[in-house]
Amino acid sequence: MTQEIGGFAALDLHPNVLAAVIATGYEEPSAIQIQAIPVILAGHDMIGQAQTGTGKTAAFALPILSRIDPAKRQPQALILAPTRELALQVATAFETYAKQMPGVSVIAVYGGAPMGPQLKAIRNGAQIVVATPGRLVDHLRRDEKVLSTIQHLVLDEADEMLKLGFMDDLEVIFKAMPESRQSVLFSATLPHSIRAIAEKHLRDPKHVKIETKTQTVTAIEQVHLMVHADQKHAAVLRLLEVEEFDALIGFVRTKQATLDLAAALEAKGYKAAALNGDIAQNQRERVIDSLKDGRLDIVIATDVAARGLDVPRITHVMNVDMPYDPESYVHRIGRTGRAGRTGRALLLVTPRERRMLQVIERVTGQKVGEVKLPDAQQVLDARIKKLTNSLAPLVADAEASHGDLLDRLTAGIGCSPRALAAALLRKATNGQALTLAEVQRDQPLVPDAGSSAPRERSERSDRGGDRPEREGGRERRAPVPLSEGKARCRTALGARDGIAAKNLLGAILNEGGLVREDIGRIQVRESFSLVELPEEGLERLLGKLKDTRVGGKPLKLRRYRED
Ligand code: AMP
Repeated sequence: MTQEIGGFAALDLHPNVLAAVIATGYEEPSAIQIQAIPVILAGHDMIGQAQTGTGKTAAFALPILSRIDPAKRQPQALILAPTRELALQVATAFETYAKQMPGVSVIAVYGGAPMGPQLKAIRNGAQIVVATPGRLVDHLRRDEKVLSTIQHLVLDEADEMLKLGFMDDLEVIFKAMPESRQSVLFSATLPHSIRAIAEKHLRDPKHVKIETKTQTVTAIEQVHLMVHADQKHAAVLRLLEVEEFDALIGFVRTKQATLDLAAALEAKGYKAAALNGDIAQNQRERVIDSLKDGRLDIVIATDVAARGLDVPRITHVMNVDMPYDPESYVHRIGRTGRAGRTGRALLLVTPRERRMLQVIERVTGQKVGEVKLPDAQQVLDARIKKLTNSLAPLVADAEASHGDLLDRLTAGIGCSPRALAAALLRKATNGQALTLAEVQRDQPLVPDAGSSAPRERSERSDRGGDRPEREGGRERRAPVPLSEGKARCRTALGARDGIAAKNLLGAILNEGGLVREDIGRIQVRESFSLVELPEEGLERLLGKLKDTRVGGKPLKLRRYRED
């Protein structure tokens, strides 16, 4: 998107909202934000066609926060979301954007949590209520007046809400709100059922949609990798091990993300720098010059900062964060494949962003094939290949110049040339992991985010909304197929105990005396975790692990059966 820097400032948002957006590190509004914010600020009803990843939450949150009256301690805006996870995300976004608005509070209302405190927060005057429809209807049954002061309504992911069967609940909710309210509906698709709702409950709505012209991208090989949002850094580091790139530009969404990722890459020895809108023009030029002449190999940039950047050395573009729309995707990847060369574009996709991937494929008319994270063996092979390539040119005349020295050193130390060469290698590679076991130990675990293992609680398989979440004490989910030769085991430790997959992995590897390959998929859920362990010798292994503690708590792994 070609917007001027400072685009948010032109949008007429409340100064405190604008200040919070700037503090968040957003540099420019996304396409849906540019279009929707003025419409919502003007008080119109609106239908926005946009999916996750386009910045739709801020597209309604920013103007709504700008329009509410913080002095009035009563619910003023209601956001309806299909699932608890989305409701929580939206509530968190509102809290972020309301950081500089003292007196504004946000309450998330969803099933599975006690009703009393939710109702109390509403009655205490939370101005923003983010709710799942089922639970909100339960509240309405107790107190039909809870929504009587609502002036702004947003239906977020309306198509998902209907798919989950919330139609009747929506009707009850519509009736409980003043007719004079503003209503905004966001939906990725506009099937007949959504249009019917809009016709019945919205007044003369404006339509907002990001136009997607077909775009052509040639000479660029495009691939994507499914990854969970919190594993992106680890995934980038792992991918870079095997990608043969000359120079690479990585795109992220915020200034902070440019700094964080560039720092993580530098820490691993890459010649990397950040490029964002805060960086002064002369420094920016220095970064680009360095990328041109090879003093830098990687630049991590926001879209704004990378504008106009033309460096023929760039062989790779990595979309670490998803672009907001297909146009900016095409724009970004056009940084490679310059001057008739071929380029490679990598796109990291979180499970929630799958739909955006499909849109990109449709608009560009090209399939963006999937790649998997390289495993330890591939990482090792790539490292050895790099080492071979760097040493090969040195071998030719080394013996003539250093052969005598080698004889003297081996005689002096009393070791074989092989032992000495190995020691020199260790020194030259700075102790880098160069055996399979070492690489396995070093590589941070990046659980598979592929289609078979939805981990984010917001995934479709988990979309029970505020329908009962638990059955027989278990969280309900589509079963994940078991890896070959493995048995699934369960521990009562989960995310709520502060446990991450890597903690479980570390403990089981150490105390079970296993190697990484022995352990299959690890799924950490809120109140428990599942770990795949070798079927063979399982009982003995569980015996070994019987006193193991993780995060100070007993692990107590047991064989787990799906049924
Ligand atoms: P959404 O489509 O609302 O799920 O937003 C996707 C992600 O984009 C969220 O992580 C937001 O924090 C982020 N985001 C939204 N608007 C902007 C913006 N203008 N600049 C940078 N990041 C943004």
